[in-house]
Amino acid sequence: MAYEPVIGLEIHVELSTASKMFCGCRVEFGGTPNTRVCPVCMAHPGALPVINRQAIRYLARIGLALGCSIPERSIFHRKNYFYPDLPKGYQISQYDQPFAVDGRLEVTTQDGIQDVGIERVHMEEDTAKNIHAGESGRIADSLYSLIDFNRSGTPLVEIVTRPDIHSPQAARAFLNQLKNLLQYLDVSDCNMEEGSLRCDANVSMRPAGSEGLGVKTELKNMNSFKHLEKGLAQEIARQVDILESGGDVVQQTVHYDVGSGLISPLRSKEEAHDYRYFPEPDLVPLVATGDFVDEVSSGMPELPAARAERYRRELSLPAYDVEVLTSSRGLADYFEETLEHFNDAKLVSNWLMGELLGYLNATGQSLAECKVSPAGLAELLTMMREGKISANAGKEVFSEMCDSGAAALEVVEERGLSQISDEGELAAVIAEVIEDNPAQVEQFRAGKEQVAGFFVGQVMKATGGRANPKLVNQLVRQRLTE
Ligand code: ADP
Ligand code: MG
Ligand code: ZN
Repeated sequence: MAYEPVIGLEIHVELSTASKMFCGCRVEFGGTPNTRVCPVCMAHPGALPVINRQAIRYLARIGLALGCSIPERSIFHRKNYFYPDLPKGYQISQYDQPFAVDGRLEVTTQDGIQDVGIERVHMEEDTAKNIHAGESGRIADSLYSLIDFNRSGTPLVEIVTRPDIHSPQAARAFLNQLKNLLQYLDVSDCNMEEGSLRCDANVSMRPAGSEGLGVKTELKNMNSFKHLEKGLAQEIARQVDILESGGDVVQQTVHYDVGSGLISPLRSKEEAHDYRYFPEPDLVPLVATGDFVDEVSSGMPELPAARAERYRRELSLPAYDVEVLTSSRGLADYFEETLEHFNDAKLVSNWLMGELLGYLNATGQSLAECKVSPAGLAELLTMMREGKISANAGKEVFSEMCDSGAAALEVVEERGLSQISDEGELAAVIAEVIEDNPAQVEQFRAGKEQVAGFFVGQVMKATGGRANPKLVNQLVRQRLTE
Protein backbone atom coordinates (compact mmCIF):
# COMPACT_ATOMS: atom_id res chain seq x y z
CA MET A 1 0.00 0.00 0.00
CA ALA A 2 1.19 3.54 -0.72
CA TYR A 3 1.19 5.96 2.20
CA GLU A 4 0.89 9.71 2.28
CA PRO A 5 2.46 11.84 5.04
CA VAL A 6 0.26 14.30 6.92
CA ILE A 7 2.09 17.11 8.69
CA GLY A 8 0.94 19.89 11.00
CA LEU A 9 3.31 22.49 12.49
CA GLU A 10 3.36 24.42 15.75
CA ILE A 11 5.61 27.45 15.53
CA HIS A 12 6.79 29.56 18.45
CA VAL A 13 7.88 33.12 17.79
CA GLU A 14 9.53 35.34 20.41
CA LEU A 15 8.31 38.89 19.87
CA SER A 16 10.79 41.74 19.71
CA THR A 17 8.93 44.01 22.10
CA ALA A 18 10.93 46.31 24.38
CA SER A 19 9.62 44.66 27.55
CA LYS A 20 8.36 41.26 28.68
CA MET A 21 4.80 39.96 28.39
CA PHE A 22 3.58 40.65 31.91
CA CYS A 23 6.24 42.84 33.52
CA GLY A 24 8.54 45.74 32.66
CA CYS A 25 11.80 43.76 32.33
CA ARG A 26 13.72 44.33 29.12
CA VAL A 27 13.53 41.71 26.35
CA GLU A 28 16.94 40.90 24.95
CA PHE A 29 18.93 37.80 24.07
CA GLY A 30 21.71 36.58 26.35
CA GLY A 31 23.53 38.96 28.68
CA THR A 32 24.65 38.27 32.23
CA PRO A 33 22.24 35.64 33.60
CA ASN A 34 19.46 36.79 35.90
CA THR A 35 19.98 40.51 35.38
CA ARG A 36 16.67 41.20 33.63
CA VAL A 37 14.31 39.83 36.23
CA CYS A 38 11.72 41.07 38.72
CA PRO A 39 9.19 39.60 41.17
CA VAL A 40 6.69 38.99 38.33
CA CYS A 41 8.92 36.97 35.99
CA MET A 42 10.55 35.22 38.98
CA ALA A 43 7.08 34.33 40.32
CA HIS A 44 7.44 35.81 43.76
CA PRO A 45 4.30 35.41 45.87
CA GLY A 46 1.81 38.20 45.40
CA ALA A 47 3.32 39.57 42.17
CA LEU A 48 0.67 40.34 39.57
CA PRO A 49 0.94 40.26 35.76
CA VAL A 50 -0.05 43.16 33.48
CA ILE A 51 -0.64 42.57 29.76
CA ASN A 52 1.88 44.16 27.35
CA ARG A 53 -0.17 46.14 24.82
CA GLN A 54 2.55 46.20 22.17
CA ALA A 55 2.76 42.40 22.28
CA ILE A 56 -0.97 42.23 21.57
CA ARG A 57 -0.52 44.62 18.62
CA TYR A 58 2.18 42.35 17.22
CA LEU A 59 -0.01 39.32 17.84
CA ALA A 60 -2.84 41.01 15.95
CA ARG A 61 -0.50 41.84 13.07
CA ILE A 62 0.43 38.18 12.75
CA GLY A 63 -3.20 37.05 12.97
CA LEU A 64 -4.35 39.54 10.35
CA ALA A 65 -1.44 38.83 7.99
CA LEU A 66 -2.34 35.14 8.14
CA GLY A 67 -5.94 35.95 7.20
CA CYS A 68 -7.35 34.91 10.58
CA SER A 69 -10.51 36.20 12.12
CA ILE A 70 -10.09 37.90 15.47
CA PRO A 71 -12.87 37.02 17.90
CA GLU A 72 -13.94 39.99 19.96
CA ARG A 73 -13.02 38.26 23.19
CA SER A 74 -10.23 35.92 24.12
CA ILE A 75 -8.87 34.92 27.50
CA PHE A 76 -5.69 33.68 29.13
CA HIS A 77 -5.43 30.28 30.77
CA ARG A 78 -2.94 28.74 33.14
CA LYS A 79 -1.19 25.71 31.70
CA ASN A 80 0.10 23.83 34.73
CA TYR A 81 3.22 21.71 34.76
CA PHE A 82 6.37 21.42 36.84
CA TYR A 83 9.75 22.11 35.43
CA PRO A 84 12.65 24.11 36.86
CA ASP A 85 12.49 26.70 34.07
CA LEU A 86 8.88 27.53 34.92
CA PRO A 87 8.95 29.38 38.23
CA LYS A 88 5.20 29.84 38.66
CA GLY A 89 4.49 26.15 38.11
CA TYR A 90 2.29 27.18 35.20
CA GLN A 91 2.68 29.05 31.95
CA ILE A 92 0.22 31.80 31.09
CA SER A 93 -1.11 30.80 27.70
CA GLN A 94 -4.35 30.68 25.74
CA TYR A 95 -6.46 27.59 25.39
CA ASP A 96 -9.97 27.23 24.04
CA GLN A 97 -10.52 30.93 23.33
CA PRO A 98 -7.42 31.97 21.40
CA PHE A 99 -6.79 35.45 20.00
CA ALA A 100 -6.99 34.59 16.27
CA VAL A 101 -8.43 31.61 14.38
CA ASP A 102 -9.04 30.16 10.92
CA GLY A 103 -6.41 31.71 8.70
CA ARG A 104 -4.31 30.46 5.83
CA LEU A 105 -0.95 30.94 4.19
CA GLU A 106 -0.40 30.36 0.50
CA VAL A 107 2.89 28.55 0.03
CA THR A 108 4.95 28.07 -3.12
CA THR A 109 6.38 24.54 -3.14
CA GLN A 110 8.08 22.30 -5.69
CA ASP A 111 4.64 20.92 -6.52
CA GLY A 112 3.03 24.32 -7.06
CA ILE A 113 1.09 26.67 -4.85
CA GLN A 114 -0.55 25.13 -1.79
CA ASP A 115 -2.89 26.54 0.79
CA VAL A 116 -1.99 25.72 4.39
CA GLY A 117 -4.74 26.34 6.92
CA ILE A 118 -3.90 28.17 10.15
CA GLU A 119 -5.89 26.76 13.02
CA ARG A 120 -5.04 29.38 15.61
CA VAL A 121 -2.60 32.09 16.66
CA HIS A 122 -2.33 32.67 20.38
CA MET A 123 -0.34 34.55 23.00
CA GLU A 124 1.78 33.02 25.72
CA GLU A 125 5.05 33.60 27.59
CA ASP A 126 8.44 31.98 27.19
CA THR A 127 10.06 29.96 29.96
CA ALA A 128 13.43 30.57 31.62
CA LYS A 129 16.44 28.66 30.35
CA ASN A 130 18.10 25.64 31.95
CA ILE A 131 21.84 25.51 31.61
CA HIS A 132 23.20 22.03 32.22
CA ALA A 133 26.79 22.22 33.42
CA GLY A 134 28.87 19.64 31.63
CA GLU A 135 30.64 19.16 28.36
CA SER A 136 27.68 18.03 26.27
CA GLY A 137 25.25 20.58 27.67
CA ARG A 138 22.73 17.74 28.05
CA ILE A 139 21.07 16.95 31.34
CA ALA A 140 22.11 13.29 31.39
CA ASP A 141 25.81 13.85 32.02
CA SER A 142 25.71 17.16 33.86
CA LEU A 143 26.84 17.61 37.47
CA TYR A 144 24.36 20.34 38.18
CA SER A 145 22.03 22.71 36.34
CA LEU A 146 21.67 26.47 36.55
CA ILE A 147 18.69 28.58 35.56
CA ASP A 148 18.79 31.89 33.73
CA PHE A 149 15.52 33.80 34.16
CA ASN A 150 16.34 36.54 31.65
CA ARG A 151 14.14 34.80 29.07
CA SER A 152 11.34 34.07 31.54
CA GLY A 153 8.21 35.93 30.45
CA THR A 154 9.37 36.92 26.96
CA PRO A 155 6.26 37.38 24.79
CA LEU A 156 5.78 34.24 22.73
CA VAL A 157 3.26 33.76 19.94
CA GLU A 158 2.24 30.26 18.94
CA ILE A 159 1.02 29.61 15.41
CA VAL A 160 -0.67 26.24 14.81
CA THR A 161 -1.31 24.97 11.29
CA ARG A 162 -3.94 22.49 10.20
CA PRO A 163 -2.61 19.10 9.09
CA ASP A 164 -2.46 20.34 5.49
CA ILE A 165 1.18 19.71 4.64
CA HIS A 166 2.16 16.54 2.80
CA SER A 167 5.93 16.43 2.41
CA PRO A 168 9.05 17.43 4.36
CA GLN A 169 9.98 19.81 1.52
CA ALA A 170 6.59 21.53 1.72
CA ALA A 171 7.02 21.87 5.50
CA ARG A 172 10.35 23.59 4.97
CA ALA A 173 8.91 25.85 2.26
CA PHE A 174 6.04 26.78 4.58
CA LEU A 175 8.43 27.68 7.38
CA ASN A 176 10.68 29.74 5.11
CA GLN A 177 7.74 31.72 3.85
CA LEU A 178 6.23 32.15 7.30
CA LYS A 179 9.57 33.40 8.59
CA ASN A 180 9.80 35.86 5.73
CA LEU A 181 6.30 37.11 6.47
CA LEU A 182 7.15 37.57 10.17
CA GLN A 183 10.23 39.55 9.19
CA TYR A 184 8.14 41.81 6.97
CA LEU A 185 5.76 42.29 9.89
CA ASP A 186 8.60 43.59 12.09
CA VAL A 187 7.44 41.55 15.05
CA SER A 188 10.45 39.31 15.68
CA ASP A 189 14.07 39.04 14.68
CA CYS A 190 13.33 35.38 13.83
CA ASN A 191 16.88 34.48 14.81
CA MET A 192 16.82 30.69 14.89
CA GLU A 193 20.25 30.26 16.48
CA GLU A 194 19.05 32.34 19.42
CA GLY A 195 15.75 30.47 19.58
CA SER A 196 13.52 33.37 18.54
CA LEU A 197 11.79 31.01 16.11
CA ARG A 198 11.23 27.34 16.98
CA CYS A 199 9.10 24.65 15.50
CA ASP A 200 7.45 21.38 16.55
CA ALA A 201 6.36 19.11 13.72
CA ASN A 202 3.53 16.58 14.01
CA VAL A 203 3.44 13.80 11.47
CA SER A 204 1.29 10.78 10.70
CA MET A 205 0.76 8.49 7.72
CA ARG A 206 -2.40 7.50 5.92
CA PRO A 207 -3.21 5.44 2.83
CA ALA A 208 -2.59 7.72 -0.17
CA GLY A 209 -5.80 9.31 -1.36
CA SER A 210 -7.73 8.68 1.88
CA GLU A 211 -9.16 11.40 4.09
CA GLY A 212 -8.82 10.28 7.72
CA LEU A 213 -5.91 10.97 10.06
CA GLY A 214 -3.50 8.37 11.39
CA VAL A 215 -1.78 8.34 14.78
CA LYS A 216 0.82 11.11 14.92
CA THR A 217 4.19 11.61 16.53
CA GLU A 218 5.79 14.93 17.35
CA LEU A 219 9.31 16.14 16.65
CA LYS A 220 10.11 18.73 19.28
CA ASN A 221 11.92 22.04 19.14
CA MET A 222 13.64 21.90 15.82
CA ASN A 223 15.62 25.10 15.43
CA SER A 224 16.77 24.65 11.85
CA PHE A 225 14.44 24.20 8.89
CA LYS A 226 16.97 22.00 7.15
CA HIS A 227 17.16 19.64 10.11
CA LEU A 228 13.40 19.65 10.42
CA GLU A 229 13.07 18.58 6.80
CA LYS A 230 15.57 15.74 7.33
CA GLY A 231 14.04 14.71 10.66
CA LEU A 232 10.58 14.52 9.09
CA ALA A 233 11.86 12.38 6.22
CA GLN A 234 13.47 10.05 8.76
CA GLU A 235 10.35 9.83 10.91
CA ILE A 236 8.17 9.20 7.85
CA ALA A 237 10.42 6.30 6.86
CA ARG A 238 10.22 4.91 10.42
CA GLN A 239 6.40 5.08 10.46
CA VAL A 240 6.11 3.47 7.03
CA ASP A 241 8.32 0.60 8.24
CA ILE A 242 6.09 0.06 11.26
CA LEU A 243 2.90 0.16 9.23
CA GLU A 244 4.21 -2.09 6.49
CA SER A 245 5.23 -4.72 9.00
CA GLY A 246 1.72 -4.69 10.42
CA GLY A 247 2.50 -2.66 13.56
CA ASP A 248 0.88 0.44 15.06
CA VAL A 249 2.46 3.85 15.40
CA VAL A 250 2.44 4.94 19.05
CA GLN A 251 1.46 8.52 19.78
CA GLN A 252 4.57 10.03 21.35
CA THR A 253 7.20 12.70 21.20
CA VAL A 254 10.31 11.63 19.31
CA HIS A 255 13.79 13.06 19.19
CA TYR A 256 15.71 13.49 15.96
CA ASP A 257 19.45 13.39 16.52
CA VAL A 258 21.06 15.66 13.98
CA GLY A 259 24.47 14.03 14.32
CA SER A 260 23.47 10.40 13.83
CA GLY A 261 20.31 11.10 11.79
CA LEU A 262 18.42 8.71 14.09
CA ILE A 263 14.98 8.99 15.65
CA SER A 264 14.43 7.92 19.25
CA PRO A 265 11.25 8.03 21.37
CA LEU A 266 11.36 10.71 24.08
CA ARG A 267 8.23 10.39 26.17
CA SER A 268 4.57 9.67 25.80
CA LYS A 269 2.64 12.72 24.74
CA GLU A 270 0.74 14.71 27.37
CA GLU A 271 -2.98 15.13 26.92
CA ALA A 272 -4.64 18.49 27.46
CA HIS A 273 -6.10 17.32 30.79
CA ASP A 274 -2.56 16.68 32.10
CA TYR A 275 -2.11 20.44 32.12
CA ARG A 276 -5.17 21.20 34.27
CA TYR A 277 -5.96 24.27 32.20
CA PHE A 278 -8.10 26.87 33.94
CA PRO A 279 -8.75 30.58 33.26
CA GLU A 280 -6.03 32.90 34.61
CA PRO A 281 -7.77 34.76 37.46
CA ASP A 282 -5.19 37.56 37.60
CA LEU A 283 -5.84 38.83 34.06
CA VAL A 284 -8.83 40.49 32.46
CA PRO A 285 -10.16 39.08 29.16
CA LEU A 286 -8.62 40.48 26.00
CA VAL A 287 -11.23 42.46 24.12
CA ALA A 288 -10.25 43.15 20.51
CA THR A 289 -12.48 46.10 19.68
CA GLY A 290 -13.11 47.15 16.08
CA ASP A 291 -11.05 50.28 16.77
CA PHE A 292 -8.09 48.23 17.97
CA VAL A 293 -8.19 45.94 14.94
CA ASP A 294 -8.48 48.99 12.64
CA GLU A 295 -5.51 50.63 14.34
CA VAL A 296 -3.40 47.52 13.81
CA SER A 297 -4.54 47.05 10.20
CA SER A 298 -3.76 50.62 9.25
CA GLY A 299 -0.34 50.46 10.89
CA MET A 300 0.56 47.20 9.13
CA PRO A 301 3.96 47.28 7.39
CA GLU A 302 3.99 46.60 3.66
CA LEU A 303 3.73 42.83 3.06
CA PRO A 304 5.71 40.85 0.45
CA ALA A 305 2.84 40.67 -2.06
CA ALA A 306 2.32 44.44 -1.95
CA ARG A 307 6.02 45.08 -2.38
CA ALA A 308 6.20 42.69 -5.32
CA GLU A 309 3.32 44.53 -6.96
CA ARG A 310 5.03 47.88 -6.42
CA TYR A 311 8.31 46.62 -7.92
CA ARG A 312 6.44 45.36 -10.98
CA ARG A 313 4.36 48.46 -11.44
CA GLU A 314 6.63 51.33 -10.43
CA LEU A 315 10.04 49.89 -11.25
CA SER A 316 8.99 47.71 -14.22
CA LEU A 317 11.13 44.85 -12.98
CA PRO A 318 10.70 41.39 -14.55
CA ALA A 319 8.75 38.77 -12.56
CA TYR A 320 11.88 36.78 -11.75
CA ASP A 321 13.72 39.78 -10.28
CA VAL A 322 10.66 40.67 -8.22
CA GLU A 323 10.42 37.18 -6.81
CA VAL A 324 14.08 37.04 -5.81
CA LEU A 325 14.20 40.56 -4.37
CA THR A 326 11.10 40.16 -2.20
CA SER A 327 11.98 36.63 -1.10
CA SER A 328 13.53 38.13 2.01
CA ARG A 329 12.73 41.33 3.81
CA GLY A 330 16.43 42.03 4.30
CA LEU A 331 17.20 41.81 0.59
CA ALA A 332 14.20 43.94 -0.39
CA ASP A 333 15.26 46.61 2.12
CA TYR A 334 18.85 46.47 0.84
CA PHE A 335 17.58 46.89 -2.70
CA GLU A 336 15.49 49.93 -1.84
CA GLU A 337 18.24 51.56 0.14
CA THR A 338 20.68 51.13 -2.76
CA LEU A 339 18.10 52.70 -5.07
CA GLU A 340 18.02 55.79 -2.88
CA HIS A 341 21.63 56.46 -3.88
CA PHE A 342 21.67 54.98 -7.37
CA ASN A 343 18.56 55.28 -9.42
CA ASP A 344 18.66 52.36 -11.87
CA ALA A 345 16.42 49.57 -10.57
CA LYS A 346 17.32 46.93 -13.14
CA LEU A 347 21.06 47.47 -12.80
CA VAL A 348 20.87 47.34 -9.00
CA SER A 349 18.71 44.21 -9.23
CA ASN A 350 21.26 42.53 -11.52
CA TRP A 351 24.06 43.31 -9.08
CA LEU A 352 22.13 42.02 -6.08
CA MET A 353 21.01 38.81 -7.79
CA GLY A 354 24.36 38.17 -9.47
CA GLU A 355 27.24 39.58 -7.45
CA LEU A 356 25.81 40.03 -3.96
CA LEU A 357 23.85 36.78 -3.68
CA GLY A 358 26.68 34.98 -5.48
CA TYR A 359 29.16 36.20 -2.89
CA LEU A 360 26.89 35.32 0.04
CA ASN A 361 26.26 31.86 -1.38
CA ALA A 362 29.91 31.17 -1.98
CA THR A 363 30.98 32.28 1.50
CA GLY A 364 27.95 31.09 3.46
CA GLN A 365 27.48 34.60 4.84
CA SER A 366 24.09 36.07 5.60
CA LEU A 367 23.06 39.44 4.24
CA ALA A 368 23.22 40.87 7.75
CA GLU A 369 26.90 39.93 7.91
CA CYS A 370 27.72 41.51 4.55
CA LYS A 371 30.41 44.17 4.84
CA VAL A 372 29.15 46.24 1.90
CA SER A 373 26.41 48.71 2.72
CA PRO A 374 23.77 49.74 0.19
CA ALA A 375 25.44 53.16 0.02
CA GLY A 376 28.80 51.46 -0.60
CA LEU A 377 27.41 49.44 -3.48
CA ALA A 378 25.77 52.57 -4.91
CA GLU A 379 29.15 54.34 -4.83
CA LEU A 380 30.70 51.51 -6.83
CA LEU A 381 27.89 51.54 -9.38
CA THR A 382 28.26 55.30 -9.73
CA MET A 383 31.98 54.95 -10.47
CA MET A 384 31.12 52.46 -13.19
CA ARG A 385 28.42 54.68 -14.67
CA GLU A 386 30.86 57.60 -14.78
CA GLY A 387 33.39 55.46 -16.62
CA LYS A 388 35.92 55.60 -13.80
CA ILE A 389 36.20 51.82 -13.81
CA SER A 390 35.13 49.09 -16.22
CA ALA A 391 32.32 46.64 -15.55
CA ASN A 392 34.80 43.82 -15.11
CA ALA A 393 36.93 45.78 -12.71
CA GLY A 394 33.71 46.63 -10.87
CA LYS A 395 33.09 42.97 -10.11
CA GLU A 396 36.62 42.51 -8.82
CA VAL A 397 36.28 45.62 -6.65
CA PHE A 398 32.95 44.44 -5.25
CA SER A 399 34.33 41.11 -4.19
CA GLU A 400 37.26 42.83 -2.47
CA MET A 401 34.83 45.22 -0.74
CA CYS A 402 32.91 42.18 0.56
CA ASP A 403 36.10 40.53 1.81
CA SER A 404 37.69 43.50 3.52
CA GLY A 405 34.91 46.00 4.03
CA ALA A 406 36.96 48.67 2.23
CA ALA A 407 35.24 51.42 0.25
CA ALA A 408 35.08 51.21 -3.57
CA LEU A 409 37.42 54.15 -4.11
CA GLU A 410 40.05 52.71 -1.76
CA VAL A 411 40.07 49.36 -3.56
CA VAL A 412 40.24 50.98 -7.01
CA GLU A 413 43.19 53.14 -6.02
CA GLU A 414 45.02 50.41 -4.18
CA ARG A 415 44.72 47.98 -7.09
CA GLY A 416 45.28 50.55 -9.84
CA LEU A 417 42.00 49.62 -11.45
CA SER A 418 40.84 53.05 -12.44
CA GLN A 419 39.82 53.21 -16.04
CA ILE A 420 41.96 55.28 -18.38
CA SER A 421 39.70 57.94 -19.82
CA ASP A 422 42.46 60.43 -20.39
CA GLU A 423 42.60 61.14 -24.14
CA GLY A 424 46.27 62.13 -24.13
CA GLU A 425 47.31 58.94 -22.38
CA LEU A 426 45.19 56.80 -24.71
CA ALA A 427 46.38 58.64 -27.85
CA ALA A 428 49.96 57.61 -27.13
CA VAL A 429 49.03 53.93 -26.82
CA ILE A 430 46.88 54.09 -29.96
CA ALA A 431 49.67 55.68 -31.96
CA GLU A 432 52.00 52.88 -30.94
CA VAL A 433 49.51 50.13 -31.82
CA ILE A 434 48.86 51.69 -35.23
CA GLU A 435 52.56 51.94 -35.96
CA ASP A 436 53.11 48.29 -35.03
CA ASN A 437 50.36 46.98 -37.34
CA PRO A 438 50.71 48.55 -40.83
CA ALA A 439 48.98 45.65 -42.59
CA GLN A 440 45.79 46.14 -40.57
CA VAL A 441 45.92 49.87 -41.20
CA GLU A 442 45.95 49.14 -44.95
CA GLN A 443 42.95 46.84 -44.59
CA PHE A 444 40.98 49.49 -42.71
CA ARG A 445 41.77 52.16 -45.25
CA ALA A 446 40.75 49.79 -48.05
CA GLY A 447 37.27 49.79 -46.50
CA LYS A 448 37.39 46.85 -44.08
CA GLU A 449 35.92 48.75 -41.16
CA GLN A 450 35.65 45.88 -38.72
CA VAL A 451 39.45 45.97 -38.37
CA ALA A 452 38.84 48.86 -35.96
CA GLY A 453 37.86 46.18 -33.45
CA PHE A 454 41.31 44.63 -33.75
CA PHE A 455 42.93 47.92 -32.76
CA VAL A 456 40.58 48.41 -29.84
CA GLY A 457 41.51 44.93 -28.66
CA GLN A 458 45.23 45.72 -28.93
CA VAL A 459 44.81 48.91 -26.91
CA MET A 460 42.85 47.08 -24.22
CA LYS A 461 45.61 44.49 -24.07
CA ALA A 462 48.34 47.11 -23.84
CA THR A 463 46.56 48.84 -20.95
CA GLY A 464 45.76 45.68 -19.03
CA GLY A 465 42.06 46.13 -19.76
CA ARG A 466 41.92 49.50 -18.06
CA ALA A 467 41.26 51.66 -21.10
CA ASN A 468 37.74 53.02 -21.49
CA PRO A 469 36.61 50.90 -24.47
CA LYS A 470 34.03 53.36 -25.75
CA LEU A 471 36.56 56.16 -25.87
CA VAL A 472 39.22 53.94 -27.44
CA ASN A 473 36.84 52.92 -30.19
CA GLN A 474 36.10 56.53 -30.96
CA LEU A 475 39.76 57.60 -30.90
CA VAL A 476 40.95 54.67 -33.03
CA ARG A 477 38.43 55.50 -35.76
CA GLN A 478 39.39 59.15 -35.62
CA ARG A 479 43.05 58.32 -35.96
CA LEU A 480 42.59 55.85 -38.82
CA THR A 481 40.46 58.20 -40.87
CA GLU A 482 42.67 61.26 -40.38
P1 ADP B 1 -2.17 18.05 20.42
O1 ADP B 1 -3.38 18.20 21.26
O2 ADP B 1 -1.56 16.70 20.42
O3 ADP B 1 -1.18 19.15 20.60
P2 ADP B 1 -3.43 19.37 18.27
O4 ADP B 1 -4.77 18.93 17.80
O5 ADP B 1 -3.32 20.59 19.12
O6 ADP B 1 -2.72 18.14 18.94
O7 ADP B 1 -2.56 19.59 16.99
C1 ADP B 1 -1.25 19.96 17.08
C2 ADP B 1 -0.68 19.97 15.69
O8 ADP B 1 -0.68 18.66 15.15
C3 ADP B 1 -1.44 20.82 14.70
O9 ADP B 1 -0.52 21.48 13.87
C4 ADP B 1 -2.23 19.81 13.90
O10 ADP B 1 -2.43 20.25 12.57
C5 ADP B 1 -1.33 18.61 13.90
N1 ADP B 1 -2.04 17.34 13.83
C6 ADP B 1 -3.14 16.98 14.49
N2 ADP B 1 -3.47 15.70 14.18
C7 ADP B 1 -2.54 15.26 13.30
C8 ADP B 1 -2.33 14.02 12.61
N3 ADP B 1 -3.12 12.97 12.80
N4 ADP B 1 -1.27 13.95 11.79
C9 ADP B 1 -0.44 14.99 11.62
N5 ADP B 1 -0.59 16.16 12.23
C10 ADP B 1 -1.64 16.31 13.07
MG1 MG C 1 -0.77 21.24 20.76
ZN1 ZN D 1 10.21 40.83 35.11
